[in-house]
Amino acid sequence: MKNKMTEQIEISSFSNEDNEKLKLCIENLKRLGNALQGYERDKNTFPEWLSELHPTYLEDNNHLICPADKDQGIQLLPYDVDPNLPVSYSYDCDPEYYERWMKKERHIYSDANPIVRCTHHGNIESDCSLLTNLHINLSFSNSIYISEGDWRKFPVEMYGGIEAAIAGYERALRLVPEDPNFFNLYSELIRLYVRANRNEDAEKLIKSFKSVMKPNENIMRFRDYWTLVDLLKVIGRYEKALSLLKRLQRIS
Ligand SMILES: [Zn+2]
Repeated sequence: MKNKMTEQIEISSFSNEDNEKLKLCIENLKRLGNALQGYERDKNTFPEWLSELHPTYLEDNNHLICPADKDQGIQLLPYDVDPNLPVSYSYDCDPEYYERWMKKERHIYSDANPIVRCTHHGNIESDCSLLTNLHINLSFSNSIYISEGDWRKFPVEMYGGIEAAIAGYERALRLVPEDPNFFNLYSELIRLYVRANRNEDAEKLIKSFKSVMKPNENIMRFRDYWTLVDLLKVIGRYEKALSLLKRLQRIS
């Protein structure tokens, strides 16, 4: 993959035709981003469905269809289906989904959180040689970035740079330091510190994680240990990680 964060997003392993479809999809997402901002400016809220943008904010409803979508916006699963028009894109503000998940995630990841996503561009090989599904994300702040599968694991792309990603994830962690559902923030933030050669901050992060660990509370809190093993691995403390794993094995 190259040029993830520039205007000219291209996937090096894609054919010219697939890159052309990607380019047209990104143009659609830009239009959708502008349309959503217009809607929000006028109504102080986001629409329940993307189709509500048409025609006032999105003149041509063909822009709701990704050229790489073989089903042309016809959703095969009954979940999250726009009731008015064929739509290729996943919309994260539909009322049920937003209340259940997105409200909290948006609060935590702020406006870097995606609002619209396209998942029709197939798979690419990830860093560990596994095939992962490509997501083209449009964020609440109207920027476009590519991630593989879980966008939460791509903070640099989300925030548009490593220092911005560190600031974004530090802020996120201050909001939910003890919530095990967001322990992934510790794992991603320590990777960012290591990439930025901020080893002292990485050490401090492990200390603050240890202070919120409650491994004996109940069996589910084993994930505290798993997170700690991961943090230790990232900073190269393999022996400590291994002894922790052995301890885990004994108590499980
Ligand atoms: Zn697309």
